[in-house]
Amino acid sequence: MYYSKEEQEKFSKAGEIARVVRETMRKNVQEEMRIVDVCEKAEELIRKLGGKPAFPCNVSINEVAAHYTSPPGDTKTVPKNSLVKLDIGVHVDGYVADTAVTVCFNREYDAMVVAAEEALKTAIETIRSGIFTSKLGSAVQKTIESYGFKPVSNLTGHQVGRFLVHAGKSLPNVFHLSATRLHTGEVYAIEPFVTLKDAVGKVESGKEITIFKMKKHKSMRATAARNLFNFIETNYRSLPFAERWLQKSPLKGGYKEAFHEIRAANCLTEYPIFVEASGKPVAQAEHTVFITENGCKVLT
Ligand code: MN
Ligand code: MN
Repeated sequence: MYYSKEEQEKFSKAGEIARVVRETMRKNVQEEMRIVDVCEKAEELIRKLGGKPAFPCNVSINEVAAHYTSPPGDTKTVPKNSLVKLDIGVHVDGYVADTAVTVCFNREYDAMVVAAEEALKTAIETIRSGIFTSKLGSAVQKTIESYGFKPVSNLTGHQVGRFLVHAGKSLPNVFHLSATRLHTGEVYAIEPFVTLKDAVGKVESGKEITIFKMKKHKSMRATAARNLFNFIETNYRSLPFAERWLQKSPLKGGYKEAFHEIRAANCLTEYPIFVEASGKPVAQAEHTVFITENGCKVLT
């Protein structure tokens, strides 16, 4: 995998926008704020700064580890004493940067957030061209355990690419047997997830689905479904999108029936929320990095 200087600059620009949005939202998010306002503020700021959302702003709370964004008509608010993971994706001409932070309104869980941030720091200090993903996973796991917590074993970091949030290789946050190495020029999102020591330490799919992605093209018979399909393909291509965004399609409020048809035709990948299996809270930290010969360059 090799990116030209121009392509690298687009990754860097996406990374810089993602960093500004993450830091702005970290300060803005508050208890009892409407979640849809968090999502929309983040997504508006991405556009204002010259990028586009690479995926819907994720606001995943407490035992929900990932993949919650506001559905249409969401009335949920940020609960008091909660642990809020803000996950921001930005693309510039398709080049993706992915970053996350945990905002903690519960002093009891502060140390868990520190563990996630320190594990990310360890990974950034360890990562370089030629490293095995197993070595990186071990380093992350050891750091998390040294704080008295447990890594979530079935959520991983991932390679990113053009119009791709998951572009091939994965970066597990635990020791694993693998001969996979990383190489100079590749771009990765590193993201340790941390939970309590007595948790199961795995996520499972929840009932709610708020994020989707185009899986395969099909020509829909109904005009409305065809138009919506075209809107999704044109605007989001192979990137995840929120059902909430479809309210801004030319079909406006009338998109629902067409969307139902597209889902029923099995054209979409659907991303259910991920919930910690024992219902324990989860903290996350994430940066996107560019692999170099001796280390990495943090883009976010
Ligand atoms: Mn992310
Ligand atoms: Mn990610």
